[in-house]
Amino acid sequence: MIRIQYKRGKYCPVFVCDQCGKPITDHASGIEVAPIQAAEGELLACYHVHQGTCDEAMERRLGAVCGWEDLGVHVARLLHNTKINGKVLRDSLHRAQLLDSITL
Ligand SMILES: [Zn+2]
Repeated sequence: MIRIQYKRGKYCPVFVCDQCGKPITDHASGIEVAPIQAAEGELLACYHVHQGTCDEAMERRLGAVCGWEDLGVHVARLLHNTKINGKVLRDSLHRAQLLDSITL
């Protein structure tokens, strides 16, 4: 899931593991998990989890055949599917870095 975390005077979006409830702080340790049986056009819930025990527990919890995607690829596909690319992405990253560098 995505949540907003208030930390050091700032509100920052973070991925939170849908299984253990802890933040996923490195894309390399997270994946997206979702059931893979769907009808054409159907919208499915997807879950962000830590790789390993959390994703295994999530698949057992869902009780369905699931697919998974590296968190970095998942985010890149979201950006692509919402037409956030090129200049928009560079400008947004610049704004995010500026916001992150502000000390309150
Ligand atoms: Zn977890």
